[in-house]
Amino acid sequence: MKEFIISTQIQFFSLDELSAEDRQLVEEARQMTRTSYSPYSHFQVGAALRLADGRLFRGSNQENAAFPTGLCAERTVFFAAQANAPEVAPVAIAIAAYTNGAFTEKPVSPCGSCRQALLEAETRYHQPIRVLLYGTEGVYVIQSMKALLPLDFDGSELA
Ligand SMILES: [Zn+2]
Repeated sequence: MKEFIISTQIQFFSLDELSAEDRQLVEEARQMTRTSYSPYSHFQVGAALRLADGRLFRGSNQENAAFPTGLCAERTVFFAAQANAPEVAPVAIAIAAYTNGAFTEKPVSPCGSCRQALLEAETRYHQPIRVLLYGTEGVYVIQSMKALLPLDFDGSELA
């Protein structure tokens, strides 16, 4: 038997410690929680995505009475960016969540499906996507989506 360990580096910042650019992206994600359509979960998620050319895209989670029909904030913003600017790599995404009258204390993290979708963009553009996860206690900064999804399914075995 052999064993190996995969580790992930997470930096933990206060809002004040972030660069102005990163702080703006986080603030955009916080603002976007207001546009969430989440009458079922009451978990309002906002996301903001920065492209390599500096453009920002914004999204929020969109739910539906037929639950699987809805979509997370991360993929909402990512797919909008891909549809409108397919030639430009995404370089950073910020995520925030608001529930029970407040932003979450712990940084909120993307689900597995969103990680999978965004990771394929890293591969496609040969460009890591920095991930900024906001909570009132601080911001987790991860330098690539790959760090959040090791041993991903990358399609290389597809015929
Ligand atoms: Zn998701």
